[in-house]
Amino acid sequence: MPPILDGKFSITEGKGITFQPRMTLKELGWTPELEAAFAPHAGKGLVPARLIRETSINFSAILEGGDEIHCILCGRLWNAAAIDSDLPAVGDWVAIEEGDENTPSIIRVQLPRRTVFSRKMPGNSSQAQVIGANIDVVTVVTDAGSDYNLRRMERYFTLINRSGAKAVVLLNKSDLFTKEELKTAAAEISALSPDATVHITSALKGEGLKAIRSHLGKGITMCIVGSSGVGKSTLVNQLYGDEWQWTSEVNETTGKGRHTTTCRELVPLDSGGMLIDNPGMREIQMWMDENILRASFEDVADLASQCKFADCSHGTDKGCAIREAVESGKLDPARYESFLNLDEEIAALQKRAKKRQMATERWHKRNHRVKARNLDDRIQLEKDLRGEI
Ligand code: GDP
Ligand code: ZN
Repeated sequence: MPPILDGKFSITEGKGITFQPRMTLKELGWTPELEAAFAPHAGKGLVPARLIRETSINFSAILEGGDEIHCILCGRLWNAAAIDSDLPAVGDWVAIEEGDENTPSIIRVQLPRRTVFSRKMPGNSSQAQVIGANIDVVTVVTDAGSDYNLRRMERYFTLINRSGAKAVVLLNKSDLFTKEELKTAAAEISALSPDATVHITSALKGEGLKAIRSHLGKGITMCIVGSSGVGKSTLVNQLYGDEWQWTSEVNETTGKGRHTTTCRELVPLDSGGMLIDNPGMREIQMWMDENILRASFEDVADLASQCKFADCSHGTDKGCAIREAVESGKLDPARYESFLNLDEEIAALQKRAKKRQMATERWHKRNHRVKARNLDDRIQLEKDLRGEI
């Protein structure tokens, strides 16, 4: 008997007829643990799905087979969430009651998370914002030159370890540095976190893609972080390949993008594995800055606390520990100079952070309003279905 083909034929320009097999749950990251957690709900007409987007309007999820559906959150889950970070987020697995033309699909159950990448909301220490759930690998891109900063790398490792994901570092732009420089940098990074894998790559030579793919097995979810300018877009474009072009291409007849999934935050890749890419991920490097800045001057701050007088101006004052350190060569005068400008630098950072915070708050308010509206809509819909007014 010939094998049963489960999938979709499509005609692509330049490629002829291609066959895209249907996506399995396993390829989307389904595990035996999730299977067990889902088992009690399986008989109730619910289907497993993975959230790929949480837009200002709704949730989107991907089902076994690869189809995308829009869904809303059931009131019980909404009410059960004590804080925002309990609510389903991109990457989460859920159990959905599928709707039809008249009824929306509803998220009934949120399955347990294996890993969770979250950030504290700026200015609101008690609230956490989930950037992505069930991320297996976080790839940090940096270089051995201007972006090289062990303190920042340490912070990345802390965040990644806390999330439960595995850390991979790409020491990119290897074409610009000597073998010796690269070796030293890689060794220093490895020493910070022995569990992390460090690759020396040049995205320009296609080596970054190879390194990334070596971690993107079936069902693996990855996100890519790092400062701007280190080569992330170059890598992501290489990774998306044709898929990426789809998103920007516009169909001349309909005027619409050929891809319906342009702003998807979790993207299954043709070559295997998935990528989570959202604004929160891209912002990670920015919200670490102030702490890193302070941490990198901790030694100077310690010295200052040893000055004889609390209001020491670190000039000609008696018993100034900083002056003594500079005179004895223990402290680089240039570093001391930077320390004096630290508050100004931090003030500038805070100003930028404030702007971001306002933007984030606006985004959250809008999201909440929309969520509340969704809930109202849903309640109204249920009333309508019951014939109430
Ligand atoms: P992103 O801001 O992290 O997304 O960085 P981009 O991907 O936009 O890259 C910033 C610049 O670095 C671009 O001009 C890239 O062409 C360049 N670039 C990326 N990878 C490499 C590399 O491996 N070697 C060199 N020399 N340049 C690179
Ligand atoms: Zn002093």
